Amino acid sequence: MIARRMRRVTYSCAFCGEDNEVFVDPSGGRRQVFTEDCTVCCRPNLITLTIEDDGEVLLDAAQEYEA
Ligand SMILES: [Zn+2]
Repeated sequence: MIARRMRRVTYSCAFCGEDNEVFVDPSGGRRQVFTEDCTVCCRPNLITLTIEDDGEVLLDAAQEYEA
């Protein structure tokens, strides 16, 4: 697999379960935490993103607040 500077990762919305895509920017650090609004239900997902040594991206989506 070729490592790219930018890559897309799909996650399931923590609220409605729909798939969303985020762009990973490796220059942002090995571990990044940010909020992404779901494109379907518009509620905020707290994204925790980890880039491993081999370039694999681990992504966890959680509800930013209790709905
Ligand atoms: Zn959603």
